Amino acid sequence: MINNQPALFVSHGSPMMAVENSKTSRFLKVLGQSLPRPKAIIVFSAHLDLPEDIVITAGRNPKTIHDFYGFPDALYQIQYDAPGSPELAQDIAGRFEQAGLTPKLNRRQSWDHGVWIPLRLMYPAADIPIVQVSINSRLGASHHYIYGKLLASLRAENIMIMGSGGISHNLGEVFSPLPTPNRSNMVKEFTAWVEDKLMTNDVDGLLDYMEEAPHVMFNHPTQEHFLPLIAVLGSCDTDTVEKIHSDIEYDVLALDAYLFS
Ligand code: ZN
Repeated sequence: MINNQPALFVSHGSPMMAVENSKTSRFLKVLGQSLPRPKAIIVFSAHLDLPEDIVITAGRNPKTIHDFYGFPDALYQIQYDAPGSPELAQDIAGRFEQAGLTPKLNRRQSWDHGVWIPLRLMYPAADIPIVQVSINSRLGASHHYIYGKLLASLRAENIMIMGSGGISHNLGEVFSPLPTPNRSNMVKEFTAWVEDKLMTNDVDGLLDYMEEAPHVMFNHPTQEHFLPLIAVLGSCDTDTVEKIHSDIEYDVLALDAYLFS
């Protein structure tokens, strides 16, 4: 019997994680060594957030995008040369089409930093093929849950499904000269709510997080960093979930990671 590949949600934090020796960068390095090696990785990243059609990366050798501004030069020199998989991209597109969705293959789309920062730490040899599936933060959680569901059976083919976002993500607050009072508690209450819903397998609650979660607009003024978690959840809602990492940077950027296996 083939065991399913685990599915994974990671918080990629600040781009500085690519060059800093931090608690979370060390965690990702160890994680890559400890998980069963996948044949390929499907990534839902916060930084491929597109309107209208679902875009699936389909190039054989995508390049590296440095989609952030004002960081040290060293970050802009990094290349992550992991290959793509046009075959897997085609397979994914077929699954989405059968469900009445309109995917588009994009052979020129390169890896955004939500992909290459965590995966370069996990798999520095850059030898595992990746396919990215776009998210659409204009649509709600239930759409992303379905994306995950449509891909769930690929996990039995030794393919990892990964979401890369942030369990909390209020960048305005990170750079604010005037910290919002009680901000640490608002992050703690939100992340504890998410953990509780995951641990009790309350899928309906998670899909309704915009209404139910405490301080949701403080933790996610925009939704693109949370929706990758919902996509991953769709691919594994009956699995055992484990919180495998937590950390908070800049007082408000929570970096929790979850493994579904
Ligand atoms: Zn990000």
